[in-house]
Amino acid sequence: PTAIALHQVNKIYANGTVALQGVDLAVRQGEFVSLVGPSGCGKSTVLKLMAGLAAPSNGYLETPGIAGDRDLAYVFQDAALMPWATVLDNVHLPLKLKGQSLRGSRSHIQAALNLVALQGFEHSYPRELSGGMKMRVSIARALVTNPHVLLMDEPFGALDEMSRSRLNSDLLQLWEEYHWTVVFVTHNIYEAVYLSHRVVVMGSQPGRILAEVPIDVPYPRD
Ligand code: ADP
Ligand code: ADP
Repeated sequence: PTAIALHQVNKIYANGTVALQGVDLAVRQGEFVSLVGPSGCGKSTVLKLMAGLAAPSNGYLETPGIAGDRDLAYVFQDAALMPWATVLDNVHLPLKLKGQSLRGSRSHIQAALNLVALQGFEHSYPRELSGGMKMRVSIARALVTNPHVLLMDEPFGALDEMSRSRLNSDLLQLWEEYHWTVVFVTHNIYEAVYLSHRVVVMGSQPGRILAEVPIDVPYPRD
C-alpha cells in the first residue's frame, strides 16, 4: 500500500522560484527511498510537502500512511538540539509539546535512547557530545513518538566518514526491525544505494525527477 504520494506536483515559492515541476512520486509503506540530486533541485521541498510544512502550488498529495500528527518525524542535517537542555530533556520535547510529563514519558525516552545506543547519556548536554552522538539524540527525539514515517534531510551530511558509516549501518539495522517508511535526502550516492530500496534522482532546473533506480539487493545487507 501507498504511504505517501505526490501527483503532478508543482511548487512555486512566493518569490517565483519554481522548485518542483510535474513531480509524481509514490512511496510504499515500509519502503526506504532516497532522493539524490544537485543542490537546489527540490529535494527538501519534496520533504516539506510530505511533512505538510508547505503546500503544493498545483497537483496534490495523498498520505494514507500517516495516521496522525505524531506519525511522522523529520530529521534535519543540523541536529538542532536545545543546547541548554540535557539529552533527556531534548528527547522529551515532542512528548512535552503534547502535554506529557517527563515522568510519564520516561520509558518512551529510555526506549528511544536505547535504539540509538545512547543509554547512559541522559544527563549529558549537547556540548559534551560528538557530532555523531548529537545526531543520535536527534534521531531518538524523532523516534520517541513511535512514528511510522521518517523524513530525513541529509541527516549525516555534517559528519565525518566514520560516524556516517556507523550511523548508516545502525539505521539500516533499525529499519530491519521497525520497517518505517523512510524518505532520505542525501548528496552521497553510496549512502543512497546502501540504504535504499529505490533511489530517486532529481535534476536541477526545474525540479524534476530524472530517474528512479530500484536497488536490487535484498535485505539484510550484511
Ligand atoms: P534541495 O533540497 O535539493 O537543495 P530545495 O528544495 O531546498 O532544494 O530548493 C529548491 C529551490 O527552491 C531552490 O532554488 C531554492 O533556492 C528554492 N527555495 C527553497 N525554499 C524556498 C523558499 N522558502 N522560498 C523561496 N525559494 C525557496
Ligand atoms: P534546507 O533545504 O537546507 O532545509 P531551505 O529550504 O530553508 O534549507 O533553503 C534552501 C535554499 O532556499 C537555500 O539556498 C536558501 O537560501 C533558499 N531559501 C530559503 N528560504 C528562502 C526564501 N524565503 N527566499 C528565497 N530563497 C530562500
